[in-house]
Amino acid sequence: MEFQISEEHQLLRGAVRQMLSRHEHQKKAWREMTHRDHKFNYELWQEFADIGLLGALVPEEYGGNNSGLLALTLGFEDICTMGFSPSLMLVTCMDTACILKNGTEQHKREIIPSVIAGKTILVFAITEPDAGSNSFRMQTVARREGDRYVMNGQKIFITGVEVADYMLVVARTTTREQIDAKGLPKAFGLSLFLVDPKTKGITKTPIPTVATEGVYQWQLFFEDVEIPAENLVGVEDQGAMAMFNSLNPERILVGAICCGMAEQAINMAVSYAKERKVFRETPIGAYQGVQHPLAEAKIQLEAAKLMTYRAAWAFDQGMEPGVVGSYSNMAKLLASDVALKAVDASLETHGGIGFAEETGLAQLWNGARVLKTAPLNREMILNYVAEQELGLPRSY
Ligand SMILES: Cc1cc2nc3c(=O)[nH]c(=O)nc-3n(C[C@H](O)[C@H](O)[C@H](O)COP(=O)(O)OP(=O)(O)OC[C@H]3O[C@@H](n4cnc5c(N)ncnc54)[C@H](O)[C@@H]3O)c2cc1C
Repeated sequence: MEFQISEEHQLLRGAVRQMLSRHEHQKKAWREMTHRDHKFNYELWQEFADIGLLGALVPEEYGGNNSGLLALTLGFEDICTMGFSPSLMLVTCMDTACILKNGTEQHKREIIPSVIAGKTILVFAITEPDAGSNSFRMQTVARREGDRYVMNGQKIFITGVEVADYMLVVARTTTREQIDAKGLPKAFGLSLFLVDPKTKGITKTPIPTVATEGVYQWQLFFEDVEIPAENLVGVEDQGAMAMFNSLNPERILVGAICCGMAEQAINMAVSYAKERKVFRETPIGAYQGVQHPLAEAKIQLEAAKLMTYRAAWAFDQGMEPGVVGSYSNMAKLLASDVALKAVDASLETHGGIGFAEETGLAQLWNGARVLKTAPLNREMILNYVAEQELGLPRSY
């Protein structure tokens, strides 16, 4: 194993710790603001930008600090360990990576510096009512008409559209029927577009959900939406590879978020278990029935962290996307499993008070549970590993 966490990797993490410890006293109020009042925390977003998180994946020539994905992973992990959340930043960073790899010079010069400065928020739109785990079934179509594309279709569960400046939308530029008729592979015909959510012809409906970070999930309808041709990211019809490459950093950062959530839950349980006395003067932390689930979660957390760091390191090394894909998927599965396990053990340790809103544990459980299913569910990861790593045949 060659990867190392250098002092440079730790810089971003140090900045996160320093910045968030200044906001420790606001944590509860901010949690209420985002979870209960559904308000996005622009102040925190700006501070994340100011310490360089949004420029971590960006080379210096576009204004970034080029710290890399491993440094960002450590930063994300600590944000969650300290009880805050970077979920929407995850999507913006993933889109940034995609634009850097596939976008035009104009995209990079116009959009990326503004993202780094905290002024532009990006979201990602791929899921459709009939195309979630199987994105190739998507039916949203963008047809080229002169100097623009005209988009029709719908998307669902798109996070944060109300605060987004651009959505990176995946649509078909060759329909499934055309592909079947020509005998082309199903991955052919997808393209990526930068779309302003305020464009004429887009209708937005919020889907009230639990476990969000001050933003809604949205259902979107596109009716003859005109998109300038220069907003195409990458090559027309060849978007599948561009898209899947940017899903690797997303999974790695989800792994980091889950590791931080697990760490936070374990820390809370340990503090509480040292103080809480139920029988005589013995703190409950002395009972092995309380210790063992926490100790198991701790061991699994260390394994999940190592897998997540290795995946991030492989991405930074520019290793082959297939290798990074396997590492990322495995890390995401382990980390989301341990997040749920740790939060559950922490809830059990806290007893009834764990369900009081003030502890934040019930919200944390919701957050961890969502990450078992999204952005990629556990079953699809197991399918991937069975096929790609074990060479077993596909059943679906
Ligand atoms: C809070 C939240 C935020 C989200 N944000 C975004 C976003 O910003 N942008 C975006 O594009 N999408 C987003 N999504 C959508 C998310 O990525 C999808 O929900 C997810 O990919 C699963 O797709 P689906 O809901 O259509 O489930 P389906 O594809 O219908 O699958 C349902 C279940 O069937 C099982 N299953 C399906 N296929 C197989 C198989 N081959 N083998 C075994 N089991 C299988 C799995 O258990 C799966 O959970 C979000 C979802 C949530 C809940």
